[in-house]
Amino acid sequence: MWRCTVCGYLHEGDTPPELCPLCHATADKFELVEPVVRSHSFVSMFREEFRQLRETFAPHAVSAHFPAALIPTCVLFLLITEVCGYLPLEFAAFALLVVIVISIPLTMLTGFFLWNKNYHRARSAIFKKKIVLAWALFLVALATLIWRLVTPDLLINGGAGAAFYLLLNLMMLVCVTLLGHYGGMLISAKRKQR
Ligand SMILES: [Zn+2]
Repeated sequence: MWRCTVCGYLHEGDTPPELCPLCHATADKFELVEPVVRSHSFVSMFREEFRQLRETFAPHAVSAHFPAALIPTCVLFLLITEVCGYLPLEFAAFALLVVIVISIPLTMLTGFFLWNKNYHRARSAIFKKKIVLAWALFLVALATLIWRLVTPDLLINGGAGAAFYLLLNLMMLVCVTLLGHYGGMLISAKRKQR
């Protein structure tokens, strides 16, 4: 196989074509490439799939979805508890909060590695915002969890305590939404570069 180094056109044969049919590059612009042997055994397909996965796996994108998905669900459960007084949902929200608090440091860590590897720890405004928001999110989530552990019936008791507890959860929602927004901005900027 011969590949046009200008446009990537693939030509099968012993010699390269005189002119690339796509971009009209001359024969000297072609390079010899090994034909890809397509083996269809299950093991080789699995191996190829695994190789691709290892090369393209994005730990930060994956881990960021845990707090991003669980925080809105947590807020929704708390609001339903407030409106309907259905207590099992308050406990479900508490269980979600535990997973949220565990997943945030993991997401911060994968984010740090990505920032280090792909952006050489650039200190532009977008990264500063992401770091500040991530720390704010983690500290608010941790404080909320500790408060709920110390005072299990704070939502049931109502009043200012319950309102402030809901407010803390809403603050987490704002932080995670903005973090997702800036993450999306970085991804689309990276795409435009290509
Ligand atoms: Zn070409």
